[in-house]
Amino acid sequence: MMAGFGDGLTAEQLVNCGHGLTYNDFLILPGYTDFTTSEVVLTSPLTKKLSLKSPLVSSPMDTVTESAMATAMALTGGIGIIHCNCDMEYQANEVRIVKKYEQGFIVDPVCLGPNDTVKDIWEVKKKYGFSGVPITDSGKLGGTLKGIITSRDIDFVSADDANHLLSDLMTPVEQLTVAKYGCNLTEANLIMQGSKKGKLPIINEQGELIALIARTDLKKNRDFPLANKDDKKQLLVGAAITTHDRDRDRLATLEKAGVDVVVIDSSQGNSIFQLELIKYIKEKYPHMEVIGGNVVTSQQAKNLVEAGVDGLRVGMGSGSICITQEVLAVGRPQGTAVYRVADYASKHDVPVVADGGISSPGHILRALSLGASTTMMGSLLAGTTEAPGEYFFADGMRLKKYRGMGSLAAMEKSGGQARYDMERSQKVRVAEGVSGSVADKGSVFQFVPYLIQGIQRALQDVGAKDLVKLRSMMQSGELRFEKRTHSSIVEGGVHGLHSYEKQLF
Ligand code: GDP
Ligand code: GDP
Ligand code: GDP
Ligand code: 5GP
Repeated sequence: MMAGFGDGLTAEQLVNCGHGLTYNDFLILPGYTDFTTSEVVLTSPLTKKLSLKSPLVSSPMDTVTESAMATAMALTGGIGIIHCNCDMEYQANEVRIVKKYEQGFIVDPVCLGPNDTVKDIWEVKKKYGFSGVPITDSGKLGGTLKGIITSRDIDFVSADDANHLLSDLMTPVEQLTVAKYGCNLTEANLIMQGSKKGKLPIINEQGELIALIARTDLKKNRDFPLANKDDKKQLLVGAAITTHDRDRDRLATLEKAGVDVVVIDSSQGNSIFQLELIKYIKEKYPHMEVIGGNVVTSQQAKNLVEAGVDGLRVGMGSGSICITQEVLAVGRPQGTAVYRVADYASKHDVPVVADGGISSPGHILRALSLGASTTMMGSLLAGTTEAPGEYFFADGMRLKKYRGMGSLAAMEKSGGQARYDMERSQKVRVAEGVSGSVADKGSVFQFVPYLIQGIQRALQDVGAKDLVKLRSMMQSGELRFEKRTHSSIVEGGVHGLHSYEKQLF
């Protein structure tokens, strides 16, 4: 829709109304559609260097993101940020699990030697979950390849034979299909497909093992075309850290585990602690992407941008479990916060993550149309199978626990208070979040595709084929908004029915 027809307001006019706006306070007017939903591309930057195939991020909360959530999010097009309400070894291991889930060349395959036993394979299976193990003379990567053991070689070995030597059970090297070091991944994949085996060892001229590739990974690549991966074909994953000095060790451990991006978890990001930490990270780990926050004003954003952040996390008090605005009277309605910060950050090419207050694809569209590049969700994902914790039944509903990281319950666990306690000295705690439950949402593998389809449908209505176009329409004033009155909100919801069933997908 072109400006000048008198329809609606530009984003700037909308936000300049004098009040703070929440997502529910406005609507976006439809535009012109000349493409199908499936043509809508949702690729968007998470940070200066990292890009996601869909603008969805799971929040670093202990009832939302550990390895299962982060893996599922990365496979379906988003990314998960592993929470830090745990010790650093635990968190780094969760990162490692995500990074190991899928690979191109497995450059550090677990190996064993000919004199190791079936018991050792069982241990590998228990510890890592796979049982395809190359056998080298030294029992290590880099040793001369002697053979391979896969699940089929040991499936029917009984407990009595636990001490059986692997040299007797392995398929010897002479019978193996191998690839020469130097071939690229596509060539190696073709050789593996030709061999019809589950693994392909890569060896050098001297017959020493250099790497391995797995057929499962080709299937994963085929089954998840939206997966976000690094150049080694490992899934992207993020992790939260706090500004406390002790978290510099945590950072080092996470970096070693292969984390792609760290999120500095603080409810008020514009602090000397955070500015110092950003500078420290950028100096010590220049390759590490850093998302700073949280911020809600352009003033706050300026300091973090100048300190060198690669992304900004926006939101204060808009989260579903949040009581910061109620208890402390500090914060900002999320629509205005996203627009103001994104307006400033876009001039410095720093992408914005709109964090909190999202409970539908429409909220995601609102965040994106005000300038956010991605959106972060807690409650929306906390009820999925992949969120930590078990389901329980109450009031006839299947539920999962969901709690704010500033709730008393979360703060009682180590580190939990960090996000809400910059001075680290308080004896009396002031809760900034509540603890509650959310309804079962099924698996991320069904729920995220529903969100993606919803955003694509919305963008089709608006007339933007991708998020770059949406942003440029917003900036030029072509994208038009309208504020909602109370009665327009009533009109926009289901009304006038005696009863109805609301099934979303
Ligand atoms: P992609 O297929 O969209 O990931 O695109 P690329 O062009 O980067 O892939 C290059 C080659 O790597 C192709 O042969 C892919 O099939 C293959 N490939 C992609 N992901 C994986 C993976 O996780 N493991 C393995 N072994 N190969 C992969
Ligand atoms: P297996 O047949 O039991 O070995 O298991 P699969 O081949 O089905 O799956 C193994 C998965 O673990 C693949 O996605 C690999 O990329 C991944 N993986 C990560 N590290 C290793 C490793 O050191 N060895 C093996 N075999 N797989 C690994
Ligand atoms: P699985 O389905 O995970 O057990 O693994 P594979 O399909 O890789 O292996 C099936 C059987 O073939 C095992 O007994 C292997 O030891 C044997 N084998 C023979 N030649 C090869 C080869 O070139 N590569 C692999 N991976 N296994 C081979
Ligand atoms: P939701 O998606 O549930 O609306 O909001 C999730 C976001 O709320 C998180 O990403 C985080 O920024 C914020 N948050 C998490 N725990 C707390 C808390 O205890 N208090 C406050 N004020 N915000 C929280």
